[in-house]
Amino acid sequence: MTQTLSSTQAHALAQEIKTWARELGFSDCGISDIDLDEHETYLERWLAAGYHGEMAWMAHHGHKRSRPDELVPGTLRIISLRLDYLPPEVETTQLLSQPQKAYISRYALGRDYHKLMRKRIAQLAQQIESVAGPYGYRAFVDSAPVLERAVATKAGLGWIGKNAMLIHPKAGSMFFLGELYTDLPLPADSPYPKDHCGKCNACQTGCPTDAFVDDKVLDARRCISYLTIELKSAIPEALRPLMGNRVFGCDDCQLVCPWTRFTRITQEADFHPRHDLDRRDLLDLFLWDEATFLSRTEGSAIRRIGYERWLRNLAVGLGNAPYDPDIVEALTQRLDYPSELVAEHIQWALQQQSHKQSAGLKRIPTEFIPTVSAPSITTKHR
Ligand code: SF4
Ligand code: SF4
Repeated sequence: MTQTLSSTQAHALAQEIKTWARELGFSDCGISDIDLDEHETYLERWLAAGYHGEMAWMAHHGHKRSRPDELVPGTLRIISLRLDYLPPEVETTQLLSQPQKAYISRYALGRDYHKLMRKRIAQLAQQIESVAGPYGYRAFVDSAPVLERAVATKAGLGWIGKNAMLIHPKAGSMFFLGELYTDLPLPADSPYPKDHCGKCNACQTGCPTDAFVDDKVLDARRCISYLTIELKSAIPEALRPLMGNRVFGCDDCQLVCPWTRFTRITQEADFHPRHDLDRRDLLDLFLWDEATFLSRTEGSAIRRIGYERWLRNLAVGLGNAPYDPDIVEALTQRLDYPSELVAEHIQWALQQQSHKQSAGLKRIPTEFIPTVSAPSITTKHR
């Protein structure tokens, strides 16, 4: 139901929406129109190159991702909302240099953001309705094909950096985005005016797996976030040593970005680390049984990968850790876990541990050194 608002009413409502968004705890809010033609071309090229890997859902839905009014008929504007997530006093780069520790992407240390953001956006939608009367809207937080960064840059919330993240010069890139599609004829904000990457390419040279094929173009099949979260099958063997201790997501291309020093600490207690997930040893996490995994990841984004992939990822981290007989013993104990996927990654990890042991330390029994077979990487290198 499209509302008839005078230009003055529409401008006043847009201002009120931004005030309410702040009051609801959002860090920023902007309004975009629905012309995403430029981004549609980019998306089509990216999909045609196969950079989305196993994420077949990226290619589904036809043009609904880049044509908001095909996803929600009648949409005229998108209200884009930012919510900062970095908890206070969590280590980032320091943890990456401690190979016995598990690095979990800093967005996933606390409670899953989807529910919290959806609830807040629904509250905003209701506040709008209380002033504007009945209108058409749909709220999204990763729940539909939405080009959220393209929408956010059009709404003035930042520029899309060479690392393909949305960046704001006063807030870095460690934030979530959500959207409210609406048929209200609100005034659109100006797109973010400037790309501040300049000659920097720290994100590209700093990527552990060399996943960028061009500025802003990521081959997801090489990205550790994809490998540890989206990929359901075996992690390509060639990439495993490059993953280090990153067992759920990766933040490197944000951590090396000079704008990340302007990151705003979250105001949401829900995003603070639970169960010390910001500082746990790999071995400690690997020893969790399935019941422990399920209880300690309840309400967390980590839960979505399931216990099998959790073990798979941790096995890779343990394979990359320095030789430690306790690691070898724990890996060996888990060889009976009923999953070929897990067993193969454990075998690989044992082999890595064995190589390190023979490179300078003690020997481990030969029965712990199995044959490893895993798919080789077939993706494009820069
Ligand atoms: S998240 Fe990590 S692996 Fe993925 S592109 Fe960024 S630095 Fe590379
Ligand atoms: S690291 Fe440099 S090139 Fe990469 S997004 Fe940040 S500013 Fe841009």
